[in-house]
Amino acid sequence: MTNTTTNYIQKIQTKIHENDPNQPEFLQAVDEFLSTITPFLEEYPEIEEHNLLAVVTEPERLLQFRVPWQDDQGNWQVNRGYRIQFNSALGPYKGGLRFHPSVNLSILKFLAFEQIFKNALTGLPIGGGKGGSDFDPKGKSDSEIMRFCQSFMLELSKHIGPNLDVPAGDIGVGGREIGYLFGMYKRLRSYDAGVLTGKPLDFWGSLARTEATGYGVVYFVKHVLADQGQSFANKKAIVSGSGNVAIYAIEKLQELGANVVSCSDSNGYIIDESGIDVALLKEIKEVKRERLTAYAQAKETATYYGGSVWAHELSAELAFPCATQNEIDEEAAKRLVANGVKVVAEGANMPASLEAANYFVDNGIYYCPGKAANAGGVAVSALEMSQNSQRLQWTFEEVDSQLDGIMKDIYESCRDTAEKYNQKNNYLLGANVSGFEKVAKAMLRQGLV
Ligand code: GLU
Repeated sequence: MTNTTTNYIQKIQTKIHENDPNQPEFLQAVDEFLSTITPFLEEYPEIEEHNLLAVVTEPERLLQFRVPWQDDQGNWQVNRGYRIQFNSALGPYKGGLRFHPSVNLSILKFLAFEQIFKNALTGLPIGGGKGGSDFDPKGKSDSEIMRFCQSFMLELSKHIGPNLDVPAGDIGVGGREIGYLFGMYKRLRSYDAGVLTGKPLDFWGSLARTEATGYGVVYFVKHVLADQGQSFANKKAIVSGSGNVAIYAIEKLQELGANVVSCSDSNGYIIDESGIDVALLKEIKEVKRERLTAYAQAKETATYYGGSVWAHELSAELAFPCATQNEIDEEAAKRLVANGVKVVAEGANMPASLEAANYFVDNGIYYCPGKAANAGGVAVSALEMSQNSQRLQWTFEEVDSQLDGIMKDIYESCRDTAEKYNQKNNYLLGANVSGFEKVAKAMLRQGLV
């Protein structure tokens, strides 16, 4: 039995590697997923009978389009736009848009693939998708951002809708961009508020959406610690990133008593043993849109270093990678474990390489994979869709308490699924299997269409 299942998984893996040899991030996400699902496949022979692994790893639809726009000097520029509609078994495609020069098909396919299982874990009716552009918002004026977003939506509007595909933000896309994108969609189609989430609060946005991913990852860990009879009090935390996810993870960690000593951007990082000043960080990143060097200039206790925060020798019990994919390699994972880390919770998507993730799991670290730990953002996006359908806005407290409840449910299903397959505390297996189970059952009942 085990041999047949292993052979089937290997056959699929080989096929995917042959089909897309130049998509390393996508292959990494698929390999990680396939490495955990053997026991589930043994229990559900229908998966192999229907060749479901081949179906679920193939996107339903890939869109690629050109995005011409004019810069402030009057020159015409062109970027690539994408939308991956990966899986609609559980609901309309749902997932963010990333604007970053690194964006390509491989990165978006990995993100969309992860999004399928993340969204399933929330228990809310959303399928999986992702999109974006290799456009670099850094250093662009407000009008350039606006013109780019309008041109991007001119094409994207033909392929999305509140019951079809509902984009939101990701790296490089926040409330400002969603506002411009929505304005253009509205002119081209109609006032379908639920076509985008992460909208500004001035029109149809949800309270607590901005905070949701960062708060959610901390709530996830709160439940991990509570199960061990522990709390955040007096624990030291390393956080990477300084975007929306990192800022609100730091805010919630501090509120719950942890000491957060770091944050980072793409050039370097800050170590501030007196605790990161979130108000200052917000001012620099959200209001002035400046680099992190400005933080060190403004605060005496802070030191700025070039490079990656994961290369720094720092002893801490908690690590929250909230920057981007593959920021923690095996060497960094070993350094963290040697320095006493007990919990690694991923605010970013796939910030640990496959080797690093396996190292954490094999060394008894409470490793909380992104598709479970950072699902709070998309969960509140789904709550935003509900509010838009009702034409109501819920209170901050209402949304925040639903978020905490959803993160508790996700944690418990990761924990219980891992235990069921005799892999106690292997939340990577727990997340993959419990997310996949929901998607697989829905796909089979829908006749694999
Ligand atoms: N980009 C976020 C994620 O990685 C949120 C997506 C959404 O809200 O649709 O889950």
